[in-house]
Amino acid sequence: MKIHEYQAKELFRRYDIAVPESVLITKSEDADKAVEKLGLPVVVKAQILAGGRGKGGGVRVAKTKGEALVAVADILGMTLVTKQTGSNGTKVRKVLLEQGVEIDSELYLAILVDRAKADILIVLSREGGMDIEEVAEKSPERIISIPVDPLGGIQGYHLREAGFAFGLGAESRKLLALLLKKLFQLFVECDCSLLEINPLVITSDGTIIPLDAKIDVDGCALYRHPDINAFHDTAEEDPLEVEAAAIGLNYIRLQGNVGNMVNGAGLAMATMDLIKQAGAEPANFLDVGGGASAEMVEKGFRIILADPHVQAVFINIFGGILRCDVLASGVVQAARAVGVTIPVLVRMEGTNVDKGRKILADSGLDLVTVDNLSSAAETLADMVN
Ligand code: GDP
Ligand code: MN
Repeated sequence: MKIHEYQAKELFRRYDIAVPESVLITKSEDADKAVEKLGLPVVVKAQILAGGRGKGGGVRVAKTKGEALVAVADILGMTLVTKQTGSNGTKVRKVLLEQGVEIDSELYLAILVDRAKADILIVLSREGGMDIEEVAEKSPERIISIPVDPLGGIQGYHLREAGFAFGLGAESRKLLALLLKKLFQLFVECDCSLLEINPLVITSDGTIIPLDAKIDVDGCALYRHPDINAFHDTAEEDPLEVEAAAIGLNYIRLQGNVGNMVNGAGLAMATMDLIKQAGAEPANFLDVGGGASAEMVEKGFRIILADPHVQAVFINIFGGILRCDVLASGVVQAARAVGVTIPVLVRMEGTNVDKGRKILADSGLDLVTVDNLSSAAETLADMVN
């Protein structure tokens, strides 16, 4: 789970890592008071869960209060397009106002999990700032990696190596060592998969400060961190996916026109292949789970139909723990309640399949049933063409 810059900096403060004073605002009326509190210069920063904000116009340094208010008015509510948002961009709902810092140099520092080597990697470069991707591409030798054994943890020699790699003098190396130790501790204790600071700046008076912070926390570990889980911001997620997750459905929206409901992730993948082979595109991935109830099936059906691109629905269920009669009742119940106007194809097999088919046939609804996968593909092709 990605968290916002202001939230990452909140975590930094908990670990006694100094960051510039800042105020988060969601309404432009609040900008005036925030600037009064922070003083000038002030940096106005769009808070979205994507990088590249600076180049996209989402970060502005303001030297006067007037400039700051104009920057807030421009950035808050804008649709920010960056390399990481995709062409549709992301709406800016929150803006961070932060005390401006006088930058001497911009460094790059990241801590991440290296799965292949099963260790934690500290990645750094002297060429921090907005063009790090270009540095990685054109002069990869300027990016240095220091592997840390997760069992041994971070040691003095790692810290010294980092200091030398940055080309720092003795005083700065001490400051960096203190900072890096705390960052590493945060990374491990908070179950991060990525912690990236770009830029990490050396200020004109010699201090080292993280000006940006991107943190990704391992979603599987969130149950141990209710405080971090509380950072979850669903505003930038697909509303249908948010709704599905809230009711325990495994749903991912795709770009196609055939909605599909399947039990089991493997069968779901195979079904999406089948839809493609039939010349159509899947509109979603939906795994209702092995032990789903009729109620869950109804909820899944509603979610699928809430996507306006869906022109047909393919229900492909293997009745093991989820019995076919339960599934059929769910489908009938949902189809009645929602008032389906698009074709629905059902293929089911397994426990109580005859009972299930009878429920579908007796429903009086216009549901197409097939007995096997090959006829499902043919019927589907007819439906969408
Ligand atoms: P990103 O583009 O999404 O990575 O956003 P950043 O937080 O990294 O901001 C982009 C750039 O804005 C940085 O690389 C800095 O050059 C600049 N910047 C951010 N904060 C300050 C600041 O306090 N003072 C000055 N002078 N520049 C800043
Ligand atoms: Mn940055």
